[in-house]
Amino acid sequence: MSDNTITRFAPSPTGWIHVGNLRTALMNYLIARKAGGTFILRIDDTDPNRSKEEYVDGIKRDLDWLGLHWDRVERQSLRLEKYEEAAQKLREMDRFYEAFETPTELDLKRKKQLNMGKPPVYDRAALKLDAAERDALRAERGPGVWRFKLLQERIVWDDGILGDVSIDGASVSDPVLIRGDGQILYTLASVVDDTEMGVTHVVRGSDHVTNTGTQIQIMQALGGTVPQFAHHSLLTGPQGEALSKRLGTLALKDLREAGIAPQALLSLMSRLGSSDPVELRTDMQTLIDGFDISRFGSAPTKFDAEDLKPLTAHYLQTLDLEDVAEDIRALGVPDDQAARFWSVTRENITTLHDLEGWWKMFTQGAEPVIDDEDREFIAQAMALLPEGAFTDETWSTWTAQVKEQTGRKGKSLFMPLRKALTGQAHGPEMATLMPLLQVVKARR
Ligand code: GLU
Repeated sequence: MSDNTITRFAPSPTGWIHVGNLRTALMNYLIARKAGGTFILRIDDTDPNRSKEEYVDGIKRDLDWLGLHWDRVERQSLRLEKYEEAAQKLREMDRFYEAFETPTELDLKRKKQLNMGKPPVYDRAALKLDAAERDALRAERGPGVWRFKLLQERIVWDDGILGDVSIDGASVSDPVLIRGDGQILYTLASVVDDTEMGVTHVVRGSDHVTNTGTQIQIMQALGGTVPQFAHHSLLTGPQGEALSKRLGTLALKDLREAGIAPQALLSLMSRLGSSDPVELRTDMQTLIDGFDISRFGSAPTKFDAEDLKPLTAHYLQTLDLEDVAEDIRALGVPDDQAARFWSVTRENITTLHDLEGWWKMFTQGAEPVIDDEDREFIAQAMALLPEGAFTDETWSTWTAQVKEQTGRKGKSLFMPLRKALTGQAHGPEMATLMPLLQVVKARR
């Protein structure tokens, strides 16, 4: 690969992008950056009814959040005349034909073929129409769709992930590239763009494998250079179940709102499904340097959103106070307590959202957890808890006194106190935590 490398991420702005899209975006981004090439954000918005500006903004916001900066934005809706020109060229070459079947008729044909044990490939009936018949159908039904006439030969390519792929052109229906209402479809627009923009590598999901077959033929017909294709496997849920329906709940925007760190998401998604281990990587350059598409396998890739939590927690532990000072100040933590607050909480949070709970606990007191057999003990201990603000010594002096008076020691001394004060069996060092405690509910 060289600095001529050009990749693109080409989402349709018809919804929020999710972890599946991220996988595609990230692979294309990493390939371009590793080669010192160009990464294009291409907005596939040829469908005016389903494309929304809100989603275009959302895609940019998501990529920005992740630090996947693009070199250039292209929009298909601004390039419609290019697609028209290409369509005209295909007509002149006799590789493009108008067809008038209604969806119901096509459906019927498919069913018949399937009943006869044949593959449901479009029978090219429209190719047999003469000009007069076409005019009559057009007058009756309105303009037809435009289909690309595939060459019925094998289409082969060396896929960056799947290896040698071979598709029989005769086993695929001639693709519709323009709808009856004149709308240019993605298959044509994408070919024109990939060719004209000099895209050298196309990485996308394996749901596009058949598309690739037809797109290669269209590219060849138009005289374009065929890029290198790689098709990554689709994501499944942790049990191997299809994820397509649940992807809606795995939108990047939701993960961001849930407090998942971009570094966690990038670390997981840039290695998941490859033979490289998933490890937290906090800087992009390391991800770029270590990325190798040939290490990805074709088997479906299990994705579990839960895996993002320990990675996020791990990432947060690497942060210094200055990295989170704003978040901490926003909670109302006084500046002179911020350092202690961060040192107490950093290893006891999954996301930054958890900080709020800790601050609330310190300022409003935790609901004490007191086991029945400890009631008497806690009452005694609370009576010994000093009045006024706690200091670094409070925990050791207080527990020494409690030990002396009650005779308890070790875990049976410390654990009930921790649970009474924090409401939890685990958590930060009690000695460091005490000075932050402003309210102790168990005292009452
Ligand atoms: N807009 C297409 C999609 O989101 C792009 C596919 C491609 O990368 O060519 O599926």
